Amino acid sequence: MAPKIDIKTYPGNIINNKFVPTPSTRHSIDPATAEPLYEVPIARKEDLDVAVKHAREAFKTWSKTTHEERAKLMLAFADAIEENRADLEKLQTMEQGKPIGLANTEVTMALQWLRTFATMEVKDEVLQDDDERTIYQTFPPLGVCGGIVPWNWPILLGLGKVGPALMTGNTFIMKPSPYTPYCDLKLGEIGMSIFPPGVFQVLSGDDSLGPWMTEHPDIDMITFTGSIPTGKRVAASCAKTLKRYVLELGGNDAAIVCDDVEIEKCLPKIATLAFLNSGQICMLAKRIYVHEKIYDQFRDAMVEFTKNNIKTGGGFEPDVVVGPVQNSMQFELVKDMYSQIEKCGWKVALEGKVREGSKGYYIEPAIIDNPPEDSRIVVEEPFGPIVPLLKWSDDEDVVDRANSLRTGLGASVWSKDLVRAEKMARNLSAGSVWVNSHFDVAPNVPFGGHKESGIGMEWGIEGFKHFTNTRSLWVWKKIF
Ligand code: NAD
Repeated sequence: MAPKIDIKTYPGNIINNKFVPTPSTRHSIDPATAEPLYEVPIARKEDLDVAVKHAREAFKTWSKTTHEERAKLMLAFADAIEENRADLEKLQTMEQGKPIGLANTEVTMALQWLRTFATMEVKDEVLQDDDERTIYQTFPPLGVCGGIVPWNWPILLGLGKVGPALMTGNTFIMKPSPYTPYCDLKLGEIGMSIFPPGVFQVLSGDDSLGPWMTEHPDIDMITFTGSIPTGKRVAASCAKTLKRYVLELGGNDAAIVCDDVEIEKCLPKIATLAFLNSGQICMLAKRIYVHEKIYDQFRDAMVEFTKNNIKTGGGFEPDVVVGPVQNSMQFELVKDMYSQIEKCGWKVALEGKVREGSKGYYIEPAIIDNPPEDSRIVVEEPFGPIVPLLKWSDDEDVVDRANSLRTGLGASVWSKDLVRAEKMARNLSAGSVWVNSHFDVAPNVPFGGHKESGIGMEWGIEGFKHFTNTRSLWVWKKIF
């Protein structure tokens, strides 16, 4: 029977399977009401040092455990999370703002991820085996890994790092975003009753904690998900100690809609995947290129669909798709993008509204009608519920336009003609490309970005390998 969490209390950081309080605490804000949530620790440098020391000590034994032992604990961890899922989902909506149904989806995905990770193993490869020698490629763990998590999907993106790190034999210290520390601290608390001390620790802190982790000489690897500018700072900081790092960064995905689609079939998915989580997902349809032959019809249908189906409101209200924007900093950024509509004279197909005067950070969806290709709404990731529709007429040209940015996280092509769609898809420079879909992800499929959208991959066996070194092992069968 897993311990029952209490979402109102945060007695300390999770260090060596104990709650370790800190002299000062902080809280974040419920974005639906702008009211303060619960007090959480602010880790000091010495707290991080202690956690790293325990992680390094724990690594000595954890790295020697078998796949079966790790898998058993990973499955027990998933079961314990599942027993607490109703509380975690509620807490996720309170801290992140996402609708409760989406919080439920996030936990369902996280459980599927952990349970799949438990079945995955990076096995030694035999590169050569003859009378004289056997040459293996082996994959020992790196050591102590640090995970830096963003505020948009704290449970899935946090556990998406914990699982592979632990399954490959590393110990792990997780740092949630200061905007969303609550669920991640509770995951650490649940882990206390499952993993040996020092194997999985969670530290909540302020803006100093991330840089302390990336600079720390006894952390061997950083797995980071967040924005491109921060990713560059993480890479520069890791360079000082030549730490390994994986960066999962921002995107500005193109969805290319061909002239032969049945609009009523593809539109609900495309429109939903433009506004889900209030546009605060790295891999949504953020530039929708619609063939000129169906542009007007598609635009009008998207406006109708959005008006009727994409309701804005608090995460606990029924049928809401667009919850509040997660924090005041992001609210100001998205408001600034909305202010460009008038300033730049963009045509609006659906005029989104900033709900000024309401207590939470609410912004209703906006659809921009064929703005210039170099406008901010096309070249910047808005990370809010605002999306441009763009006209195109030539297959090669639209692929060039989709590829023209420095980002390359995801991209999609929608068409009945699979040969044409696959040809376009194979020319799209992005880490995930879909035909007739967008945003599909799975724990056994590598996920990451091209160009400035990231370095390295998460998930899949390739993602697992990023938590390992390669060791070439030459075994001569006798001394010649
Ligand atoms: P962010 O870069 O502001 O913060 C991410 C994390 O980094 C937080 O935990 C933050 O505290 C920490 N951090 C901030 N400065 C740091 C520093 N100098 N050193 C180390 N850590 C530091 O990102 P965010 O606003 O939380 O997330 C939104 C961004 O993340 C968007 O651009 C989105 O596209 C991207 N994102 C990418 C993926 C992906 O997998 N590719 C997934 C989700 C979000």
